[in-house]
Amino acid sequence: MKYDVIVIGSGPGGYVAANRAAQLGLKTACIEKEKSLGGTCLNVGCIPSKALLQSTEHYAWLQKESKNHGIECADVKVDFTKMMQRKSEVVKGLTDGVAGLFKKYSVDRIDGTAKFTSKNSVDVNGQTLEAANFIIATGSEPIALPFLPFDEKTVVSSTGALALPKIPKKMAVIGGGVIGVEIASVYSRLGTEITIIEMLDFICAGMDESLSKSLLQILKKQGLTFHLGTKLAKAEKKNGGFVLTLEGKEPSSLETEVVLVAIGRRPYTKGLGLEEIGLKLNKGFIEVNGNFQSSIPHIYAIGDLIEGPMLAHKASEEGVAAAEIIAGKQGQVNYMAIPNVIYTHPEVASIGLTEKEAKEKNLDIIIGNCAFRANPRARCAGDTDGFVKVIGAGLKKHLVGMHIIGPHASELISEGMMAIEKRANLQEIAQSPNAHPTFSEAIKEACGQALGISVNL
Ligand code: FAD
Repeated sequence: MKYDVIVIGSGPGGYVAANRAAQLGLKTACIEKEKSLGGTCLNVGCIPSKALLQSTEHYAWLQKESKNHGIECADVKVDFTKMMQRKSEVVKGLTDGVAGLFKKYSVDRIDGTAKFTSKNSVDVNGQTLEAANFIIATGSEPIALPFLPFDEKTVVSSTGALALPKIPKKMAVIGGGVIGVEIASVYSRLGTEITIIEMLDFICAGMDESLSKSLLQILKKQGLTFHLGTKLAKAEKKNGGFVLTLEGKEPSSLETEVVLVAIGRRPYTKGLGLEEIGLKLNKGFIEVNGNFQSSIPHIYAIGDLIEGPMLAHKASEEGVAAAEIIAGKQGQVNYMAIPNVIYTHPEVASIGLTEKEAKEKNLDIIIGNCAFRANPRARCAGDTDGFVKVIGAGLKKHLVGMHIIGPHASELISEGMMAIEKRANLQEIAQSPNAHPTFSEAIKEACGQALGISVNL
């Protein structure tokens, strides 16, 4: 069978690329080695983590906040089995949805592991499939510590952490990045004693310093313990758990039941046979040009296995662009307009340049802030931690960065995305009407504050 396009991997990069290619009239197949479609994101990443974050946020609200609203909730209990079951049902609904989309767009779903047998063919379960073009979207895998391999029971990656059979009493989280703090939040809300060990002096590297500092303070207030500038040196088994030896700023040791290793992910190209066909890798990533073409031009690559932030929506945007390029259209991705979100409470979201990056580029910037304390809707919700920070640059003060820590930051950041996409400036945002009272008024006020025209701050 000869296809126009074969996509390898059905994550948010692969399945979106396959649907778009088929929509454009290309004969398309998508090969997936797991039983369930949707990749890391739907099965063991974005979706199960957000389902558990949502459930535990309700629980934390009932326990800690409801009484401030005059709601007494005696005897609030967690049924962890039910919570996990609900998470699995959410995952199943969405992964079945991907299968439905393949049918709708006539994408041939092929179950099995793909291996290149030549530059124009792959083997799947002994069957040879040929195509004029390939899109590799095989994603990434969690990195293990060399002296502490995953058993997914007591030493877990995010995958194991999202499927624990019971709530652990103690969890040490190695790595204070996005995945570490999100999963730590889930279990902390369920009563697990959490210790986060981070080599750097700050958490969530890459985000604007003001957000990172603020998130650290808020998470500490929520009861999470942090060891920053600290490295896990040794882990010894004890009583079914571990004694961890920590080195660095705060040398110490601690006992834990479960260790979550969340030190990052690496591109996954195992078993694809890329070396045999001479496809070029760089530090494990597939090297691509601006059109997502690898060193073999009709083999494209997208998502976590090429450079850039490992994000589902980045993978999807690249999937659409690659499919359009193959179909002879102009596909492109505006990387400046790709938001980053952390689904803690409060949420953290950012887009564009951080203050440090803008200064390093010698941009002529102005900065505006609005604390959610000053936002009437946040006051009504009783959710006032955090702020909006906007960065405008150049003569017209176009928005080049927006950084939000606060309620619904994941939704609010879309305004920053649209402003960056459409090259809006701070004045245009400050002078656009917002519904009142809304959290989004904080964005308008931050822009106004930068320009000295806010009438509410
Ligand atoms: P993947 O989703 O990893 O999909 C790759 C697919 O390829 C897999 O299904 C795999 O089985 C398949 N495959 C691999 N090799 C072969 C082969 N040889 N043959 C056939 N199939 C193969 N991102 C966000 O944007 N927002 C979030 O909130 C978010 N939360 C996350 C939470 C966690 C805990 C984790 C781990 C990740 C999270 N991410 C989030 C990141 C997101 O999941 C990834 O960026 C995204 O899934 C990458 O998509 P992809 O299509 O490149 O690869």
